[in-house]
Amino acid sequence: MSTKQYQVAIVGGGMVGAALACLLADSGVSVALMDAGDPERVDMEAGYDLRVSALTLSSVNLFKTLAVWPQMSEMGVQSIEKMLVWDHAGNAELEIDAADAGEMAMGYVVENRITVRALWQKLRGSENCDIYKSSCLEGFKCLDDRVLINVAAKAQISASLLVGADGSNSVLRQLSGIGHYGWDYQQKALVATVRPEKPHLNTAWQRFLPEGPLALLPLRDGLISIVWTSNTATTEGYLTLSETAFCHALAEASENRLGRFELLGKTAAFPLKMQFSTDYSAQRRVLIGDAIHTVHPLAGQGANLGLQDVISLAEVVIEAHHKGRDIASQQVLRRYERRRKGDNLLMMAIMDGFKRLFGADQALIQWVRSSGLGLINASSLLKNQICQYAMGPRR
Ligand SMILES: Cc1cc2nc3c(=O)[nH]c(=O)nc-3n(C[C@H](O)[C@H](O)[C@H](O)COP(=O)(O)OP(=O)(O)OC[C@H]3O[C@@H](n4cnc5c(N)ncnc54)[C@H](O)[C@@H]3O)c2cc1C
Repeated sequence: MSTKQYQVAIVGGGMVGAALACLLADSGVSVALMDAGDPERVDMEAGYDLRVSALTLSSVNLFKTLAVWPQMSEMGVQSIEKMLVWDHAGNAELEIDAADAGEMAMGYVVENRITVRALWQKLRGSENCDIYKSSCLEGFKCLDDRVLINVAAKAQISASLLVGADGSNSVLRQLSGIGHYGWDYQQKALVATVRPEKPHLNTAWQRFLPEGPLALLPLRDGLISIVWTSNTATTEGYLTLSETAFCHALAEASENRLGRFELLGKTAAFPLKMQFSTDYSAQRRVLIGDAIHTVHPLAGQGANLGLQDVISLAEVVIEAHHKGRDIASQQVLRRYERRRKGDNLLMMAIMDGFKRLFGADQALIQWVRSSGLGLINASSLLKNQICQYAMGPRR
């Protein structure tokens, strides 16, 4: 078996791994990208992807830098111009408008399949990247100066650096013995695409219910993508409802703000957990995206955090490459970890805190929550801060 050599091999060609491959390949770094699936076989004409992401302006800027944003826009993106948050207890609500921060939009909602397709199309045209699709990481051997990687018994490749972008159950993390901590929220996020009776007004609607938040994200073609978090048993119950009963329950849960709904396609549910890795790297291996952090989707930050990992890792690797240094030295990988760990842990703590604050039933906490929304809504300074935060870090 011949062994093809690369500078970087990436396991996982989701949004995060494929974005890293693009950034590195654009800078002249040779890359192998392997994925267990085959995103190129996903039917782009069939309905809508149940997995969507609210991308911050910071993430959008990364896609603009990679010159894939025009393709994504052509396939269909939806701007978020306003955000409306309200609680099931009390009357207070919080309304934030991107225009108040001088922006046209505070982010964009994009189906994950669109983002992945645009990135893979770009990689197909790159002379610095080879794609190994339908290929699982089978195992690897770490040598002093490189890693030998077995790709689904079909091929062996070698790389100076092996990157794990293989999601929350990362095989590379497990095979590397990198520890991780976390907890199961005993909740599920139900996702569905629906057509609302009233226009969504390019607004992200979020209502905090006793068991968790219901997010109604504006999607292309006037549709809505819902992420409805509840305790596992409640979600399982919603999944067994007839289409009519489900749409009725959804209209009730959203206080009919968008009128009645028509369900398009199927519903699905994802178990929710909080998880983080103790270390981001081991000898010649490094992790990014959900492989190192899985957060509650209540503020739609998981993919955005992963894309910030991409930017930081690419910066340190490209710098070492240009200086002719070892791109996988401990010094380089530690620099990446130092840049990202604080931000990632802070965001995870905020999401976990929000989850607990908005999931609490006690009257006092309900009062604090409701008054808090009202107070923030009355302060343009605080609203501006939240808006800046929602847009993501500026570089
Ligand atoms: C309901 C819900 C709503 C969400 N909404 C948002 C949102 O609005 N905004 C946001 O920023 N984030 C959101 N997220 C989080 C976001 O979906 C994830 O953070 C993001 O998809 C992580 O991307 P990733 O590329 O790291 O991992 P993944 O998307 O999990 O991709 C991992 C890839 O690795 C491949 N793979 C796995 N194992 C192997 C192997 N052994 N060999 C080869 N390939 C392998 C898989 O095929 C896959 O392509 C949401 C999550 C959920 C559950």
